[in-house]
This record gives sequence, C-alpha cells and structure tokens, in this order.
Amino acid sequence: MGSNESAKETIKSVADIVDVIGQFVQLRKAGQNYIGLCPFHTEKEPSFTVSPAKQMFHCFGCKKGGDLFAFWMEYHGTTFPEAVKELAARYNVSVSEGVSSSEEKRKAEYRKAVFKVNELACRFFQKVLLEEAEGNPARKYLEGRALSVGTIEKFRLGYAPDSWDRFTRFLGKDSWRLKMAAVAGLLVEREGGGFYDRFRKRVIFPIVNLRDQVVGFGGRVLDASLPKYLNTPESPVFHKGTLLYGLNYAFDAIRKTGSALVVEGYMDVLALHDHEIPEAVATLGTALTDAHVRRLKGYAPEAVVIFDSDEAGKKAALKSLPLFMNEGLKGRAVVLPGDHDPDSFVNAQGASSLRDLIRKAGSLFDFHVEMNLSGMDGSVEAKSAVIKEVLPVLGRLRNVSQQSLYVRRLSERIGVKENFLWVELKNLQRGTTGGSEIQGLSERLAKPAVEKRFSRDLHFLNLLIHYPEAAQGLRNLPWQVLLSDASIIEIGEVFFQHYGPGGFSSMEDLTSGLASEKAREQLREGLLLPSFYSDQTVDLAIEEFERKIHQLHLSRSIQKAREQGDLEGINRLLKEKAEGLAQGIGH
Ligand SMILES: [Zn+2]
Repeated sequence: MGSNESAKETIKSVADIVDVIGQFVQLRKAGQNYIGLCPFHTEKEPSFTVSPAKQMFHCFGCKKGGDLFAFWMEYHGTTFPEAVKELAARYNVSVSEGVSSSEEKRKAEYRKAVFKVNELACRFFQKVLLEEAEGNPARKYLEGRALSVGTIEKFRLGYAPDSWDRFTRFLGKDSWRLKMAAVAGLLVEREGGGFYDRFRKRVIFPIVNLRDQVVGFGGRVLDASLPKYLNTPESPVFHKGTLLYGLNYAFDAIRKTGSALVVEGYMDVLALHDHEIPEAVATLGTALTDAHVRRLKGYAPEAVVIFDSDEAGKKAALKSLPLFMNEGLKGRAVVLPGDHDPDSFVNAQGASSLRDLIRKAGSLFDFHVEMNLSGMDGSVEAKSAVIKEVLPVLGRLRNVSQQSLYVRRLSERIGVKENFLWVELKNLQRGTTGGSEIQGLSERLAKPAVEKRFSRDLHFLNLLIHYPEAAQGLRNLPWQVLLSDASIIEIGEVFFQHYGPGGFSSMEDLTSGLASEKAREQLREGLLLPSFYSDQTVDLAIEEFERKIHQLHLSRSIQKAREQGDLEGINRLLKEKAEGLAQGIGH
C-alpha cells in the first residue's frame, strides 16, 4: 500500500464526509442521508446526496459522486495526492511523500511551484509596501483611502514598484523559478528572450483561495491611468469566473449571518471589512457568473448584492437576476445613493447606515422590474419590454408557488392582468423543453420508494445491496436474463465474483471492482436508495426472482430451439414450461 493509500485510510477513519462537504454545501437531513444543492451543476431542487453511513456522495442530477477525496478533488480542482495532503493537514494526519502516477505527480508539482512563486511574490510586494522607500507612493495612496493597518496586513496588500524588472531581478537566475513565475502570470516573456514584470506601479491585492493559498493577484494603479485594474491571467491555479475576492476571510461570517454581501471592487471588500462588515466578497473585475452564485449558495441561503449607482452597476444588476433564480439563491439588491460605491459610502456614512440599507434591501426581482420600468413612460411598449425581459426568467423557475407569486407581483406593478401573463408564460414554455430533472428527491430518499417506479434491474440491484446474503440464492442461476441494463449486469457479476462467505469487507471492494463509470454511478445511486424489501418479504422476493429467471430462461431457450429447428428440444422445453406453470398454480 502506497503511503497515500494508508493516509487515505487514516483520514477516512477520522474525517466525516458530511462534515467535510458541509463546509462547502448547505446540507439538510433527509431520512438516512443529507441533501443539498449540487455544487457541480445548476439546480434549484436538491439532487446532491451525502450518505454518512456509506461515507459517499452522489448527485442524481449530474451523476458526480464518490468518497470525500473525490469531492475534494472535484470541488477544489486538485489531484488525488493534493487532496490527501490537504485533508491530512486538516485532520492532523501525518503523511509522507506519496507514491502517485507520474502524470498526477507532474500536475501537482506544477501547481505547487506556482503556489510557491505566488507566495514569494506576495511577500516581496508586501515588503516593498511596508518597508521600502519605493513603497512610499502606495503607502500615501492607502492612507488617503483610510484603510487601517490591520486590514492592510490581514489582506496582505503590497506594492509592485515602478520598474520593468524589479521582481524579475529579485527572483534571480534560477530558470525553473522564472518559468514558473511566467506560468503564474507574474512575469511576461520577452520576444527576444528573458522576462519583464507584469505588475508595475500598482497596489497589489493578493487573491487567496479557501485553502489559504495565493492563487493570483489584482493590481490597481495609483492615479487615473489605464487600465485601472490588472489581474493575473488564467493560470493552472487561477480561474477568474469561479473565484471571489475576500471569500477566505468572509467565509465564517457568511455562514454565521446566513447572508453574503457581493460588492464590485477589491477596495469595497477592504473598506467593509475595516468597518466590521466581514461578509463582503467581490468578483475579480468580471460580472457575477453562475459559478460564483453556485459557490455562494453553498454557504448561505441568500446574498445581498450592492450595486454602484452608475449605468454599469445597473446593467450588472439586471444581468444577475437570472443567475440567482436559476441557481435558487435568494437575492436582494442595494443601490447606494448618489455617486457612492460601498467604499466611499461606508467611509462617509458609517457602517450602521450601510447595515440599515442592507436590512431594508428589497428582492432582486422587484429591483429588476423597477430598473426596467425606470426611464420608461408607462406606455404599452414600455410594459411589453418589461414583460419580454422578465417573463423568460420566471418561466425557468421550477418552484410553482414562487412563480405564481412573482407573476402576481409583476401583474400588480405594471398593471397587466395576471391571466395575460400566464398565457404568455405558457407560450414561452411551450417553446422550450423541460429537462428530465428528478422531482421530489428528498421524499424519495426519506421514505421507502414505491416499487412500481423502479424497473426489475433496480429491484435486483436493491436486493444485492440490502440483502447480499439472501441474494446468494440466485448465484447459480442465469440471473442475467432478468436485466436489461448492462451496468447492473456488471455490478451483479462483480458482486457474485467477490462476495465470499463473510460478505464484503466494505462496499468499496465492490466499487473498485467495477470497470465502467456508468456502473459506479448506478451502484452509488443504488446504495443511496432505501431497501425495497424487509426481513419478512425478502424470501418471497427471492422466490419471485427465481421463478422469473426460470421462466425467462425457458422462453429464450424455446426461441433458440425454434431458430435452430430443434423440434425435440422445443417439445421438451414446452412441457417443462407447462409443468412449471402447473406448479406455480399449485403453490
Ligand atoms: Zn450535480
């Protein structure tokens, strides 16, 4: 066993999967399991399921699943050795350097090197800001923005001096390190060879992930020159569309207050933290994406978005409503008065004024409708423009009571009859196809399922999982004739191969024996469903399976005999069939 494998076992013995996943996804109890909104695909009704008993997760929507390492790798985008290492650190399990495939190793090493050079750069920029004469202009600038030293240090702000190669020279001659600094986006390669500094004459905002690693940087100019902000380009560890600035510090406060605060800029996050409003995060100079919203909804049931009052701010507000609705995260909107942004507002009016605005903030939906109506003259054209904008968003809502509530509100606000809106909505929906999403998962998981909904394949699988001893009765029969799903046949084969007198040591043995991903998915789903049988009914069920196997087997044999023109065989088999039927009646 490699050291990664032994560390894996130790971690599994101390870390609970509900605890690990619960830090990133809001889970609630449903029967034996926990369910929540899947962090890996867009959904408004939970199909993401975590089983404490089996220490696994599975999403009935996108079919992602596995153990806690699989979750860690998928959620944080790490390799297996990294996941082991990080979870080991969290649970105080010691782990020696792991043995892993060379491809995994290379990837992990690459990322490790990027993190390392980022950390080095972060310290370099910090030192320039706090200690060097070159940092003077930035220190003055930050003083002017009224940021406390505590916040500057906590967020590890720095300064990239006014030079083309100050940081390049700092890195020295080590060519691997220079190369990694270029991969990290800190250096830019010159056409004629060599490198120069990407960040120059800018205040530096390190961007830190939830694992306290510096993944990239934002740099802001001190004057009015352009571009005002410069970010690390996409790198092996930096993905703008999913990262939120300040989340590593805001995380706890967001969980505690049940509400995230989304602002536009780095300085806004810092100013709010400075004024003890720690649940603020910002996008990295991009519009809010569905990945951002999906991430936030793992931590809190609602998010309040603070928009700047300028045109760009309004446009951003309009675009964000569908994201919130699609992801099922409750959204509220604050628009600041005058020309304020959160930074200037909180400095001018104080934290309690901002808290007031946040408390009173209306829903993003109302805000959306008002925005669309503002500047319009209440004409028929204006109204139909609003309907055109808002109805498609409502049409995608799967929560019917929520939908009717919004339709009513829209009808009241714009003075168009509800009936008319419903007709329009139905017309819209007719044009689109509804996905095959799973309804009422929580009920399904909580209560023993109604058998009729499941095929014979699923019944067979259910029997193997919940009554593996009893299922041994089928071992020597041609049970395959029962099934139409190849992945369940695969599970059955591995099951009968590996199931010994003492049973399985764990379901993991079964999982690792499966070759196809489809079969592993099926098994995870099967493991999460409650038993269709009870101790009283299982024997009867086995008998029924045996009878069905026999019957199907006979029919197939008869068919084969017919195809081969084997008259004698046909007669014998038909006789057998008739006897079987007579016996069946006699029972
Ligand atoms: Zn999913």
